[in-house]
Amino acid sequence: MKILVLGSGVAGVTAAWRLLRDGHEVSVVDRQPAAAEEASFANAGLVAPGHSFAWASPKVPKILLSSLWRNDQAFRFRLTPDPRMWAWSLKFLRQCTAERARVNTLRKHALCLYSQRLFRDLVEETGVEYDGRTGGLLYMYRTAETMARGIANMRILADDGQEQEIVDPDRIAEIDPALSAARDKIAGGVYCPTDESGDARMFSVNLARLCQAKGAEFHFDTPVEAIVADGDRIERVVTGQGDMRADMYVLSLGCHSPHAVRSIGVNLPIYPVKGYSVTLPAGPENIAPAIGGVDEDNLVAYCRMGDRMRITATAEFAGYSTSHRPSDFVKMLSSAKDLFPNGGDYDRLEYWAGLRPMTPEGTPILGFGRHRNLCYNTGHGHMGWTMACGAAAIVADLIGDRTPELPLDGMTLR
Ligand SMILES: Cc1cc2nc3c(=O)[nH]c(=O)nc-3n(C[C@H](O)[C@H](O)[C@H](O)COP(=O)(O)OP(=O)(O)OC[C@H]3O[C@@H](n4cnc5c(N)ncnc54)[C@H](O)[C@@H]3O)c2cc1C
Repeated sequence: MKILVLGSGVAGVTAAWRLLRDGHEVSVVDRQPAAAEEASFANAGLVAPGHSFAWASPKVPKILLSSLWRNDQAFRFRLTPDPRMWAWSLKFLRQCTAERARVNTLRKHALCLYSQRLFRDLVEETGVEYDGRTGGLLYMYRTAETMARGIANMRILADDGQEQEIVDPDRIAEIDPALSAARDKIAGGVYCPTDESGDARMFSVNLARLCQAKGAEFHFDTPVEAIVADGDRIERVVTGQGDMRADMYVLSLGCHSPHAVRSIGVNLPIYPVKGYSVTLPAGPENIAPAIGGVDEDNLVAYCRMGDRMRITATAEFAGYSTSHRPSDFVKMLSSAKDLFPNGGDYDRLEYWAGLRPMTPEGTPILGFGRHRNLCYNTGHGHMGWTMACGAAAIVADLIGDRTPELPLDGMTLR
């Protein structure tokens, strides 16, 4: 089958790879000059089934409300006149019950575990380079009180099969010696030994090259301008380089997916949630983290990627801008320096902001809607790097008329 994948972020590239393996003729179109230039560019890098909690939970509405007048919180809500944001926010608030949080978390966890298994298979099969680090991730708490709450929260994943170890500061320093000097600043944590990390951009760029070597065509610098439907079928995609036609289309345009399908009458519940990251050199002269983790009290994630260290934070509901100011990074840098004072060269920072394509539930949208030859693979939210391989396999199964290994409950167009 001739298949056109729209978008070459980590979601689009992994889908292209799976579809090629199934013997399809695959083309990929993207407005950027290379793969993974948007949300997949400089994310936190954590492949983290052990952290696959739904964001919508009973405590979040209060946090979002107080963020209207405070600027120092990890979750930030900014009032914008965009009616789509209001509609999305209402749906998100409806998910903020204990029961919905539980259901959404378990669905995310199942997809993340499945995806990690396929991710490992893919890495083994292809040898794709991505500055990966296995050996687990550490989720740390600064106080006994937050630790007790954190452990209670984490139990849902432990009960669902996630390997976890409750660790005190000495054990944390044993697992990651780079944290030895910060032992007295940490009350303890949860160690997930099967979680891992790596550079999603490097992975996507290298996997795109492998796709090209298998015969896929990548049309970069090619914006998708419109999708044209005829009844229940997509007839063509209008791009900046002319019309493109295929038997099947896969939609992976990240947080821009809703714009592409609005004109064919589809309203996708995906909204951008902005996050910030810094990347700094981390050479042998530094004491960089051996494995990645999260400073849970400050919601700052970190990991080492080869000879670099990545630090990320913040979930900002504020529209589609990816602009950033030095002040956006102050809190995350202070938290990272507190834990890793010599983690890297803090004088040579690369700043970045990106948009997570979030659904209210936190689960992606996969499979078919009203158009028989348009398959959705989008809305992976804050876990698209972790979920990419699993989502791609589900999409390839559906296109290949096979039953996916995972039930699709909560992951189809709702
Ligand atoms: C700060 C931050 C930290 C994160 N940390 C993690 C983490 O630790 N672990 C994890 O699993 N996930 C993490 N994520 C989430 C993850 O990065 C995303 O879920 C994932 O990158 C989404 O991939 P995607 O391919 O759907 O979107 P994108 O990477 O945005 O790809 C969409 C592609 O579509 C293209 N496109 C858009 N519009 C058009 C158009 N009109 N025409 C042509 N092309 C178009 C874009 O150029 C882009 O290449 C994080 C995200 C952020 C922002």
